[in-house]
Amino acid sequence: MSHEYKAVKMKCDVITLFPEIFYAYLSEGILKRAIQKRLIDMKIYNLRDFTTDKHRTVDDYPYGGGAGMVMKPEPFFAAVEALCPDSTKRRVIMLSPQGKKFNQDIAVELSNEHRELIFLCGRYEAIDERVRTALVNDEISIGDYILTGGELPALVIIDAVARLIPGVLGDERSAETESFSWGILDYPHYTRPSVFRDMAVPKILLSGNHRDIWRWRRKEALRRTLQRRPELLEKIRLSDEDYKLIGEIKEES
Ligand code: SAM
Repeated sequence: MSHEYKAVKMKCDVITLFPEIFYAYLSEGILKRAIQKRLIDMKIYNLRDFTTDKHRTVDDYPYGGGAGMVMKPEPFFAAVEALCPDSTKRRVIMLSPQGKKFNQDIAVELSNEHRELIFLCGRYEAIDERVRTALVNDEISIGDYILTGGELPALVIIDAVARLIPGVLGDERSAETESFSWGILDYPHYTRPSVFRDMAVPKILLSGNHRDIWRWRRKEALRRTLQRRPELLEKIRLSDEDYKLIGEIKEES
């Protein structure tokens, strides 16, 4: 058993009312292979399995009145304490529109986390505040909009984090040059045919000259970032070559 655990690079539990949502997504593509290769130990738990009453009740009316139902605290506490009794060994993440906004930096941080990641997916109007106060280490939002549940946000985060675990992607270089990973947006990509409906692939990509290709890609990535997300350039350290490329881009436009 302990031998098996050592092979795992990311241990991740999800507590949800709708486990089927996860089975569908996790049984395809890169994540499926990562789970098969035991790079990710992923377990999905039904919150109702941690109730103690006959009706497996997970929600109740809000104290003070008002719209909607509130998720009860007891099943969440029972679930987390059963999955990982030692609180120092777990990082409990509640999906919530009120949390810090998810981005690539948080994905990198979570990919380096040695504790067990436990995701709590909310539904209905809210989760009882005592879960936030006494059980949760982190509250994460995937954007300023309201979804019906925390399942999609949990999957978004798990997907982004899993890609960063060594061995999950076929070619590790993919993660290094993707948008945000190197601080700026990705460069344009092309595949065969070299001409499609009169649109030709930039000649330089067919040249075989790796230095020129690298320079072209870096320049196009900088151009895209300048056009679409200029604020990203303020957060990274640009090289002398980058400044030269930006000068060229500005002249061209
Ligand atoms: N009344 C809550 C509020 O305003 O903060 C929203 C409840 S929402 C209808 C139900 C659940 O969906 C939340 O408990 C949370 O788990 C999830 N959720 C909704 N939008 C989200 C978002 N943008 N990011 C992360 N989780 C979200």
